[in-house]
Amino acid sequence: MLPNTLDYSDDITCIDTEQQRAGMACCYLLRGGDRYAFIECGTSLSVPGLLNVLQQRGIAREQIAYVIPTHVHLDHAGGVGRMLRELPNAKLVVHPRGARHMIDPSKLIAGATAVYGAEHMAAMYGEILPAPEARVIVAEDDFKLDLNGRELWFIDAPGHASHHFAVWDARSRGWFTGDVFGLSYREFDGPNGPYLLPTTTPVQFDPAAWMHTLDRLLAADPQWIYLTHYGRIGNVAKLAADLRRGLAEYQQLAAHYRTDANRHQSLKRALTEHELAKIAALNSPVDAEEARELLELDMDLNAQGLEVWLDRK
Ligand SMILES: [Zn+2]
Repeated sequence: MLPNTLDYSDDITCIDTEQQRAGMACCYLLRGGDRYAFIECGTSLSVPGLLNVLQQRGIAREQIAYVIPTHVHLDHAGGVGRMLRELPNAKLVVHPRGARHMIDPSKLIAGATAVYGAEHMAAMYGEILPAPEARVIVAEDDFKLDLNGRELWFIDAPGHASHHFAVWDARSRGWFTGDVFGLSYREFDGPNGPYLLPTTTPVQFDPAAWMHTLDRLLAADPQWIYLTHYGRIGNVAKLAADLRRGLAEYQQLAAHYRTDANRHQSLKRALTEHELAKIAALNSPVDAEEARELLELDMDLNAQGLEVWLDRK
């Protein structure tokens, strides 16, 4: 089994972690001389495919120096423990608020089970292994990491999750943004460019913090954003404006349905209709029925996360 890969400039490869479907989630392999780092690593179920990519490219497992999940949601970090077991020299680089959940993933597992249900957990995420504490590097705000001559810079990046950082790659002038620059699936790309939507997954959506994070990302004048969902996008200023607008609209929709008797379903339907209108306005090649299918899980999670935010406010 060999996942889809795409080689960008500057020794960055996008690898599909094949969660749910092809094109939904990816990780990145970065090269610094004869050393490599993975940014994101998918779930435990993604790991064999990632190892196959290394083997196919003649990269020894010993050459992987770092595994760097942007935050500890399981589609980004669920495979960390298994990766560390397979990659003998790799250190885990993780946000200070995420480290203890990687060392003891029991709370993560319980949290995800609450969101997804027990039956889906095993099928979606496989077995979640702990990370050995001695191999954990905590990356505070403004942390710098030298990948064998390639400098990576980490900033605290709350908004989507409080255990989220973003990683700046000076060489390509790009940010690895996990979920804090929203979602943009390549299927929707059309003549008017990419379509991008917010990701307000439970349970730490924080719109004010998110705006501040976007300010910091844009201040670096990035040429590229490397999304986990999915791939590299340019035209950063325009898409950041789309995301800001989308986040504001989501908050208005959530407030509108705050006291609705059937709040979850009503809000999910409203978010879906809102996104379908945006997709139609972009002349995206994806029709409404296909779009509903592609966005089904995200709409459910976005509605859930907005409801948690409403209840906390
Ligand atoms: Zn994600």
